[in-house]
Amino acid sequence: MTVRIEKKIKGYAVVKPEDKAKDAAPVAAVPQVEPEDNVIQMHERIERPEVLIGSTYKIKSPLVEHAMYVTINDIVLNAGTEHEHRRPFEVFINCKSMEHFQWIVALTRIMSAVFRKGGDVTFLVEEMKAVFDPRGGYFKAGGVYMPSLVAELGSIVEDHLKSIGLLHDPEMSEHQRALIAEKRRAFEQSQKKNAEPLPLSSTATHPEDIEVTGDGATFPPSATMCHKCSTKALVIMDGCATCLNCGYSKCG
Ligand SMILES: [Zn+2]
Repeated sequence: MTVRIEKKIKGYAVVKPEDKAKDAAPVAAVPQVEPEDNVIQMHERIERPEVLIGSTYKIKSPLVEHAMYVTINDIVLNAGTEHEHRRPFEVFINCKSMEHFQWIVALTRIMSAVFRKGGDVTFLVEEMKAVFDPRGGYFKAGGVYMPSLVAELGSIVEDHLKSIGLLHDPEMSEHQRALIAEKRRAFEQSQKKNAEPLPLSSTATHPEDIEVTGDGATFPPSATMCHKCSTKALVIMDGCATCLNCGYSKCG
């Protein structure tokens, strides 16, 4: 076979038997891959649609004068098919306070870039929630301890990923739930007994004093912080620290 060379020769390589095999292989593989190709996965080259759906979360932290508004927008891939899934696409944070401006812009841009890269993005939650502020954290309403603003952003990302089904709560067994409910009842009983001899004006037993968390659960005002679930729900029962939120008990 004669091949006429019309361009300048700039380099050469000898064709080896394994190269020939490689060239032949993809041809055989294509028919198997093809059906999968119709399913769109998240990747950097997906263009932003004109309209995205999303949620805006409000943060009120004692570390910032004004409230912060965190918007996470999602993209729906393969809409209307069995492979339909919703993924976070971008995040914005709005706040009147300017003192945190530069790191917030940096953080949100990097987070958005991670969202658009595709793959597993849930690692962001643990990474962010582990950030602590050396000046000290703060308690959110409901008694949940936030070690920093970044950690609260992490918990918002967590809530959001749960709401779109990318993250799931670890299943609490029926048995565990029943145990916590029983502990709560026992604690409330003991509180009532202690409160009876006191005059009615005693404010400590007033129902309004009991904190209400986001889930509607209430914990006694005397409760201290549980180190397992970072919620002010730890009470002393029978001389043993017991968490009325996650069921943690110092005595096992
Ligand atoms: Zn706990």
